Amino acid sequence: MLTVITGGGRGIGAATALRLARDGHDLVLSYAADRDAAEATAATARANGVGVEVVRADVTDPDQVDALFDAAAGVGRVTGLVNNAGSTLHLGDLADTPVEVVRRVIDVNLTGAVLVARRAVRDLTDGGAIVNVSSAAATLGAPHEYVHYAAAKAGVDALTVGLAQEVAARGIRVNGVAPGIVRTGIHAAAGDPGRPDRVAGAVPVGRVGEPEEVAAAIAWLLSDACPYATGATLRVAGGR
Ligand code: NAP
Repeated sequence: MLTVITGGGRGIGAATALRLARDGHDLVLSYAADRDAAEATAATARANGVGVEVVRADVTDPDQVDALFDAAAGVGRVTGLVNNAGSTLHLGDLADTPVEVVRRVIDVNLTGAVLVARRAVRDLTDGGAIVNVSSAAATLGAPHEYVHYAAAKAGVDALTVGLAQEVAARGIRVNGVAPGIVRTGIHAAAGDPGRPDRVAGAVPVGRVGEPEEVAAAIAWLLSDACPYATGATLRVAGGR
């Protein structure tokens, strides 16, 4: 098993890398800017006896996406993708969100995910599995926070449904996970590090999620445990 994880250096991607390494996957982890985090995650993952490569690739740039998958092809035949890279960048009403932030958020979370999935299905020549990382925001709408991000993630859910049907006959399953509020650096990067603790009370289970809890769902969807599941997005959001 050789699995590519975009944004595999930190947060949900890093937790997924460590989980998949324990399950015996060789990995190619991409990052956009934080090389140290990606190298640290790779080193921890390698302790499980698997091979782990680290590649810098901005998912919004098709040439860098190609370079990422070319590097993976140099390791072996890719069998899986965790299409995880994403960011929110900003919190606020849409009317107050700068146009360049709107464009960048849609570019990273939707265009990037589509470009990565596009290349992945070219390379999954003998079947495999893709898990797209969406968000509970896709159905909640995220008013007063980031409705443009929610719209992008709704696009990711449509990508999951359509691509799953397009490649089913090739033995490729395409599923998604839709996390709720998960304790990662994404909130601080959007300017609100206290957000997880502040909103925890609004989550039915009474707490925010941990990256490892999303990683478990991703690992299950990638595995042979659910061969008849495709085109599905699994909510991992504590009841939200
Ligand atoms: P995170 O801790 O901020 O990590 C984001 C990862 O994505 C980092 O590895 C980052 O790379 C990478 N990345 C960001 N922009 C990129 C780009 N343009 N090209 C390539 N890589 C890029 O965030 P996270 O919370 O783990 O988020 C992971 C996924 O879960 C995202 O798709 C996010 O939308 C989704 N999600 C998160 C939550 C939550 O509450 N945390 C909830 C729902 C959905 P660097 O390390 O190099 O910066």
